[in-house]
Amino acid sequence: MRKKIAAGNWKMNLSPKEAQALTSEVITMAQAEYTGHAEVIFAPPFPYLSMVHHLMKEAKGFHLAAQTLHEAESGAYTGETSAAMIVAVGATHVLIGHSERRQYFGEGNDLLAKKVDQALKHGLVPVYCLGETLEEREAGETLSVNREQLAGGLFHLSAEDFSKVILAYEPVWAIGTGKTASPEQAQEVHAFLRAEVRAQYGEEIAENCTILYGGSVKPDNAKELFSNPDIDGGLVGGASLKSRDFTEILKALP
Ligand code: PEP
Repeated sequence: MRKKIAAGNWKMNLSPKEAQALTSEVITMAQAEYTGHAEVIFAPPFPYLSMVHHLMKEAKGFHLAAQTLHEAESGAYTGETSAAMIVAVGATHVLIGHSERRQYFGEGNDLLAKKVDQALKHGLVPVYCLGETLEEREAGETLSVNREQLAGGLFHLSAEDFSKVILAYEPVWAIGTGKTASPEQAQEVHAFLRAEVRAQYGEEIAENCTILYGGSVKPDNAKELFSNPDIDGGLVGGASLKSRDFTEILKALP
C-alpha cells in the first residue's frame, strides 16, 4: 500500500543537544497530537544516527535514515560510510541523489544507480531524490530531466526491488529558497513520475509507489501540497529543524 510520509532532512545542522531535543520533542508532540497513519523519517547527520536511533527506537512509525552512503562494500574510501555501517547504527532508510549531492559532490545517475543497488543489498530503503534546476524548468526541460534521473538511477531494478524505493521530487529551485512549487506544478511532475513508473513496472507498482515532495515545505503550505492525489508526503529541510513546524507538517497528512 502507498505510504504517507513526513521525512526530515537535517543536513549538516544541529549540535548533539539540539538533535536530541528535536527528536524527543517531535516524538512527544506527534504521539500527543497526531491521529493519522503517516510515518516519520529522520535523516540526521552521520555522527548522530546512533543517538537518534536510541531515542526513537520504541516510537511506532518512526524511522531513521542516513543522508547518503558509499557504493562500495568496504575499503580505502577515507571519509565515507558504508551501507553495513548505516544499518549497524539502526538506520532503515537512506537518502540517495539529493540535489546537494548531485550539485556539490558531482553525483550523477550512474553512480546513484550503484548506491541504490548497495542500499537494497543491505536492506535499506532508498529515498531517491530527483528534480530539475530553474534553468532546466525555464528551458521547458522539466519532464525530460525528471525522466532521465528516474530512469538513470532506478529503471535497471527488478520490479520487486523498485517497489521498495521511495521517490522524492525536489525541484532544485525550491530547495532552501523559500520558493515552493505551486500545488499544480508539484502535482504535474508527481503524476508524470507515476505515469513513467506505470509504463515501466505496471499499474500496481505505480499505484503503490510513495512519491514525496520537497522544496520549502512549511506548516502553512503542507496541507495544500499534500491534498494532491499523487503527493504522498514531504521531504522537508529547513522546517524539519523546528519541532513544532515539523509536527504541524506531519499533521497535514491523513
Ligand atoms: C531538502 O533539502 O530536501 C529540502 C526540501 O529543503 P527545504 O525544505 O529547506 O527546501
